[in-house]
Amino acid sequence: MPVHYVKSDGSCSCSKGKDCKSKGKHPAPKSWKEFQTKKANKEQLKQWFDGQYKDFNIGVVTGKVSNNVFAVDVDIGEGKDGSDNFDDLQMANDDLPQTLEQRTGSGGKHLFFKAPENVEIKTDKNTLGGGIDTRGEGGFVVVAPSNHESSQNYTLNTQVPHIEESPDWLTKLTVNTAPSMNGSASLQSSQTDKWGDLVDGREGYMVQLLMGTIRTFWTQKGIIPTVQQLVEEAYPTYENKCRARGRSLEEDGRGKKVFEKKANYLLWKARKNELRILQDVEKGSEISQQTESVAPLHDQLRNGARSGSPELSSPLILADWNLSIYSGEAPEQEWLIENILPRRIPGLVAAVGGLGKSFILLDLAMKVAGGDQGMHKERALGGDVITNGKVVFLTAEDSKDGVHRRLRNIAGASLFDRANGNLIVVPLPDAGGAKPLIQNTMGQYTTTAIFEDIRSQLIEMGDVALIIFDPLQAFAAADINTDPAAAQFWWSNISELCVATGANVLVAHHMRKEGTFSIKKSVHAREAIRGTTALVDGARWVYGLWQMPESDEVVVAQKMDFESGVGNCVMGGIVKVNDQADNTPRAFIRDESGLLIDRTIEVDTILEQSAKLDKLQTTEIFSEINRRWGTEEPFSIATNTTRSLQAYLLSEYGMPRRAAKGYIEAWQQQNFIENAVHDSSKKTKGVRVVRTPDER
Ligand SMILES: [Zn+2]
Repeated sequence: MPVHYVKSDGSCSCSKGKDCKSKGKHPAPKSWKEFQTKKANKEQLKQWFDGQYKDFNIGVVTGKVSNNVFAVDVDIGEGKDGSDNFDDLQMANDDLPQTLEQRTGSGGKHLFFKAPENVEIKTDKNTLGGGIDTRGEGGFVVVAPSNHESSQNYTLNTQVPHIEESPDWLTKLTVNTAPSMNGSASLQSSQTDKWGDLVDGREGYMVQLLMGTIRTFWTQKGIIPTVQQLVEEAYPTYENKCRARGRSLEEDGRGKKVFEKKANYLLWKARKNELRILQDVEKGSEISQQTESVAPLHDQLRNGARSGSPELSSPLILADWNLSIYSGEAPEQEWLIENILPRRIPGLVAAVGGLGKSFILLDLAMKVAGGDQGMHKERALGGDVITNGKVVFLTAEDSKDGVHRRLRNIAGASLFDRANGNLIVVPLPDAGGAKPLIQNTMGQYTTTAIFEDIRSQLIEMGDVALIIFDPLQAFAAADINTDPAAAQFWWSNISELCVATGANVLVAHHMRKEGTFSIKKSVHAREAIRGTTALVDGARWVYGLWQMPESDEVVVAQKMDFESGVGNCVMGGIVKVNDQADNTPRAFIRDESGLLIDRTIEVDTILEQSAKLDKLQTTEIFSEINRRWGTEEPFSIATNTTRSLQAYLLSEYGMPRRAAKGYIEAWQQQNFIENAVHDSSKKTKGVRVVRTPDER
């Protein structure tokens, strides 16, 4: 069935547009209800999808009309407990068979099953526990490749291309009998496991990890492990990931004892050939040719062999890091972009969809590849590009033709020629599709063969200055937005890639769309980045691109003579950096070719006129200066530091740069503030209040 889609400006294709409460998720034809009981024939489909509803989203009606196929809808994401409850559900019953699956636009998943003919599957919320719905009779699901409000499309997991029959226990829990009674009964059973204990997320993880480890033993060593082998292998991982709520995991009843008990139970099932996860893989099917990859961990460590995890790549010798290696002159900070992007660090570039982040990254790639520090100094992200070298750009967002058009739009002939031979752009849709770098194999994160392959090619290439992955989720076959462990694993591997290649690695990512029109400070931009905080924490540098606040944009658009509200004004700035850098936001204005040009100075000038501090704001600022003076980090007169008073006025009070500078200079001249020695032992200076403006 044709379903309304989300337009590029975020509105629904239906007549309600931006006000639609169900953007891109409701049927498009007015007469859709009849198709809940009658299957649309080929002519009807042709009439819809080749005609009036060409390029619309696609919905599939579930239930009897579709051979009793239904969907289990698991809500995954921040503040959603579907994922944990889904583990619990399988714990309490059995692991679900592998079946056709899709990732929804909101990051959740749909698993498709076929129910026996004679039953009616419920369409309801929380049917199988909190955050796990079922779509059966009278329901429908939006399917891949439909688009979504979040700007992520629905994607099909093609690993299992068929729809499995619903296991009896699942059918029982979802069948529509006495609706009012049944809901609570099924909820009950999903929260209690075979031992009658209340289950939580940790137990689900425990079982997932145990099953994954059993599977690894089975495929990589051709054996079912003993209880001791299994616990020795898996428990450290579990202990590392799961936090105790009380004094210890043992005290919570989630420690080694329970772990062994579950290990025993699962091994007993495995030996009886009742463990579903072993039924579709062959014994010993992944035994490696190289002997060292199956060698015990301590052998790998001794040989310095690389395994999936970079921490194991070489042993850490503490004595190598004696103070003597820090003697002499300290090396100067090196930059890829002066005062903006330090060299050889992993970074994240986050933007609201549709703001042109891919365009900006491609522009940066051209300038790093095609600039030369003497003749052609190029500017990007508000600074001078001062390191040049080879650039490798992998994009899942554009086709070859799309990249071609963009490159031609960005670069004049001379930049194109200079970059030629230095820039590799891989449009994944034309290069064999998605290339995941990390994956989740039954509860454990590993790097893929693709990652190892790309890594060694990059090292071999030499002199690579910049590597870009666009966007992040196309390169991570893992719940990178929801599982902090996935984000951590991702960044530890990307950091290692920086060290191994000597390049900056930038990863593009999305920001939530909601509320981004009102981002006034870079800290808000940081909060709008999708996914867990581990995703931001793991990056050494995070650059955000967000819409200019509406109140400013209206003024700027009017003065510069373009349309406001359509993404022509974009703010960009560092929202997190571990090193010193200029973190004042810049203003970018889109030119005719679609590229964002740094026009901060003009925008500031325009906004300056209205930039006056009132008495209350002045008092606030002075008390903040005073408060900071009493801390380790007083405000600084210098601008290229996170302590910058100017940056504070810019981000906190939305002041234009010049106005902020003017105020600070005036306060200094009139002796309201002074730049004083703050810490004589460290020789740091800071801004100190001499007297407040109201004092006489
Ligand atoms: Zn709508």
